[in-house]
Amino acid sequence: MKFGGTSVGTGTNIRHVADLVTSYAKKDVKVTVVVSALAGVTNSLIETACQAKKSDAQSIEGFTKGLLQKHQEAIAAAIKSKAIQKEVTEITEKTISELEKVLTGICYVGELTPKSKDYVLSFGERLSAPIVWGAIKDSKVETACFTGKEVGIVTDNNFGEANPLMNFTTHLIRERLSPMLEKGVIPVVTGFIAANQDGIVTTVGRGGSDYTATILGVALKADEVWIWTDVDGIMTTDPKIVPAAKMIPQLSYQEAAEMAIFGAKAMHPRALGPVNKENIPVRIRNTAHPENNGTLITKEPQAEAKEAVKAVAMIKDVAMLNVYGAAMVGAPGSYAKVFDVLGKNGINVMMISAAASEANISMIIKRGLLGRAVSNLEIALSEKGGIISEITTEDDVAVIAVMGANMKGTLGVASKIFQIVAKKGINIRMIAQGSSELNISFVVKEKDGVAVVKAIHEEFNLDKA
Ligand code: ASP
Ligand code: MG
Repeated sequence: MKFGGTSVGTGTNIRHVADLVTSYAKKDVKVTVVVSALAGVTNSLIETACQAKKSDAQSIEGFTKGLLQKHQEAIAAAIKSKAIQKEVTEITEKTISELEKVLTGICYVGELTPKSKDYVLSFGERLSAPIVWGAIKDSKVETACFTGKEVGIVTDNNFGEANPLMNFTTHLIRERLSPMLEKGVIPVVTGFIAANQDGIVTTVGRGGSDYTATILGVALKADEVWIWTDVDGIMTTDPKIVPAAKMIPQLSYQEAAEMAIFGAKAMHPRALGPVNKENIPVRIRNTAHPENNGTLITKEPQAEAKEAVKAVAMIKDVAMLNVYGAAMVGAPGSYAKVFDVLGKNGINVMMISAAASEANISMIIKRGLLGRAVSNLEIALSEKGGIISEITTEDDVAVIAVMGANMKGTLGVASKIFQIVAKKGINIRMIAQGSSELNISFVVKEKDGVAVVKAIHEEFNLDKA
């Protein structure tokens, strides 16, 4: 069971999480718990770490004081036993004083490397897990607390987006947790953080506690991995856009992965990899409504759904980048050159479309990276003899992604989507459909995005699913 940042956002919520976990343990279910940092803490750590480069001791102290207070309040509300409160408070104080030293170090050196950034980020989960552990212990159930490193999640050196070495990791996790689970002890593990082979702290990417949960689920051959969050499951669209949005009861790994990438529940994009391979079902559930079954993600959803379209999402804060050049036509390797420049400058391309004329490529990237993309392409490829003759941009666009496994081979879905958009008098700037046919993505002006999502949700009857 993985509990996200809002599920453990306050002491009262943590108390509720402990009650949920122990209620299953009392029914003889063997549970391993994975926890995220308290809501907002990881973001505040990133901000402070980045500022620490040019910060002073005083502002660092101000930050750690606030952090200590936040966690102390959570301890007071989550744990009743004074003895356990004291035990967890001591761990918290020790951890925060270590964090203060790390931040001060960064402040003196004036540099934040990916390695030291991961170290700073690890403190969010290192602070939340002991409180959850204390709250479970408070309920007189045997429990033990681990960091991702202690439990045996070993990764490569790709700081910030590390990948687990699955064979080694599986071996270590089984060795450390299986005997405990047999004895009815509940392990509480920090999500998101792990260590490389030298024992240096790594993180598996933002939102990575989902990934920790599926790694543990696979290693322990779990019956199911439950992702407890603050929504009822994966929805047909963002309920803030369409209040009538519905929860989707069943999805395949492939569909869920598409939706994760497009932020329907914003699951970690690599989290489904391990469970998909081992065929372990994942369930998305609402901590506030445990009576609901949530969305079940499996290889082959049992209820054979007929609808072609299952969900629609809008991705904001993106920009379109168009690259033109007659020299690209019929020249092998010219696209590779463009993507190489972007890749080397840390710019992820989210969507591509290129016409058969080969004279231009359109790409979607994060809006904040637009300036860097244009300047680097210009330096590398538009100088004399370069393959690019012109670069244009639009920074007021949004991607609309329409998803569903049964779109594959269903005729007329694309035509219906584009008719809906045309009927609204909205212009489409770019289109892409991969050959998996699971997803049709297109680009409109951001101001039109909400209207498009609403119209598609309604015309495909997603609210009646
Ligand atoms: N705390 C980490 C983050 O905010 C990991 C997680 O929440 O899953 O990205
Ligand atoms: Mg989080």
